[in-house]
Amino acid sequence: MVQSAPMNAPEDSRPETEVPDTQAEHGMALLKEGCAILDIPLDETAIAAFALYYRELVTWNERLNLTSITAYDEVQTKHFLDCLVSLPLIAEELGTGLPPAKPLRLLDVGTGAGFPGIPLKIVTPAIDLTLMDGTQKKIAFLEQLVEKLELTPARVVHGRAEELGRNPEYREQYDLVTARAVAPLTTLVEYLLPLVRPGGLAVVFKGPSAPQEFMEARRAIKVLGGEAARLAPVEVPFLAERRFVLLVKKIAPTPAQYPRGQGLARKRPIV
Ligand code: SAH
Repeated sequence: MVQSAPMNAPEDSRPETEVPDTQAEHGMALLKEGCAILDIPLDETAIAAFALYYRELVTWNERLNLTSITAYDEVQTKHFLDCLVSLPLIAEELGTGLPPAKPLRLLDVGTGAGFPGIPLKIVTPAIDLTLMDGTQKKIAFLEQLVEKLELTPARVVHGRAEELGRNPEYREQYDLVTARAVAPLTTLVEYLLPLVRPGGLAVVFKGPSAPQEFMEARRAIKVLGGEAARLAPVEVPFLAERRFVLLVKKIAPTPAQYPRGQGLARKRPIV
């Protein structure tokens, strides 16, 4: 499986969990500086929300194995800023200001511990957020997190993308559908595009394999109603890794036979 973040690092490579003292926790210095570099407004309420998010993440991680990234600085860069780096591109593509002020329905597919959905929602209160994951144990964490962070409107859904994509309650209902580290792109576009409303965007976060994966997924994007997409190299502040954000605009309804059942998006992707 192609992953854009080292989510499945072996246990023994996991950095020691350090929950910093209250003062340091509210510092979020790297996040603040990174947002300044990215021109993303970050107020005190947002900083406090990120600090609380950090604390919840490392606390629950002891039981749930949500992420291999738990060090204070690394969570700010590899999780928070890695997600936020997409925001200027999304705003540009939608033709809105930064952060977008118009109501946007966002579905985050395979959100795991809430990435990228929660960071995007914290800095963009106008987002109507739906977090979705196929793993039940993550749902309890997400539900209490949404409550603690007082994220509204926001909800958590347990389900698989390829099933929700066939359910009229979800199909073609979202302005934005995001995914980070969920599946190879040829599979992922079959998960995401059926959920995007025509005129909306699928936003995919990828690592160095992005250009190759994009080439391979071109036909699938077209078949599923997407338009020639924009693959943007991005620089995450304080990270040297090569990162990409792929933005696919949906221009036509997805044909009724997609997403296919029986794991076909995964086992036999459209090529
Ligand atoms: N997006 C998060 C988590 C990545 S791990 C991040 O970037 O940190 C991949 C997650 O996708 C897991 O939580 C897994 O349960 C979920 N997932 C994988 N395939 C899925 C599918 N078909 N439908 C819904 N969730 C899926």
